[in-house]
Amino acid sequence: MADLLWPPRCPLCDRVVGFAETCPECGRDSVQLLRRQQPAVPGPGRAMDFLDGAFAAFWYEPPVQDAIVRMKQNGRSDIAAWCAGEMLLALERAGGPVVDLVVPVPAGRTQMRRRGRFDGPRYMAKILAGGLGAALCTDILYKAFDTPPQHLLSARDRRSNLLGAFAVCPRRAAQLAGKRVLLADDVFTTGATLNECAKMLRAAGAAECWGVCTALARTPRERDGGKADMGEAALPDGAGGKGAAEG
Ligand SMILES: [Zn+2]
Repeated sequence: MADLLWPPRCPLCDRVVGFAETCPECGRDSVQLLRRQQPAVPGPGRAMDFLDGAFAAFWYEPPVQDAIVRMKQNGRSDIAAWCAGEMLLALERAGGPVVDLVVPVPAGRTQMRRRGRFDGPRYMAKILAGGLGAALCTDILYKAFDTPPQHLLSARDRRSNLLGAFAVCPRRAAQLAGKRVLLADDVFTTGATLNECAKMLRAAGAAECWGVCTALARTPRERDGGKADMGEAALPDGAGGKGAAEG
């Protein structure tokens, strides 16, 4: 009955589909192509000090960018589920790490109100944990205070904006001792968000911290072929324009 009221839609182009995961067009061409273009994450201009490594399934560009924006703005769990499946595939292709815990990047209160209470990273983390045979941990890391949206800030300000913004729940910290943790988020831009989360998890005893995101946004340096100064440059169009990128 739910399927009749809310028919399944292709996660990439939003066309109504039957029982297939993607519509014939996207399934035949786009998804295969997008998978082949999977980015290698660590690169110049990204904050990775506290991360052992990070992975992304796609570049943050249309049609994936549009899908992520739809997921966030309309609370589309079907798109989040598809994203999580692609993240699992991406981890497998890249020879991703063995982890004990999957921790979603926590949303702040304002962010949750804006998202209409749908928490994409949390939804994805549950599927990732299931697929990786790891434990899902949603009560260890939390956002201690609301911060201005990352996509409104310069790359330099993105890091200072987040200092102290994430905290580990003292009563749960013991669960982290010696554990290998995978942080899950939707968009990876400068890495500031994942890196700040990893810093707190490590300080609380985690042995390894990895990151996985649905999509990697190009830094200004990557888009401009090295001409832009990361410290001052404006942010990727997609990151600012539609309010989708956070990291
Ligand atoms: Zn489609």
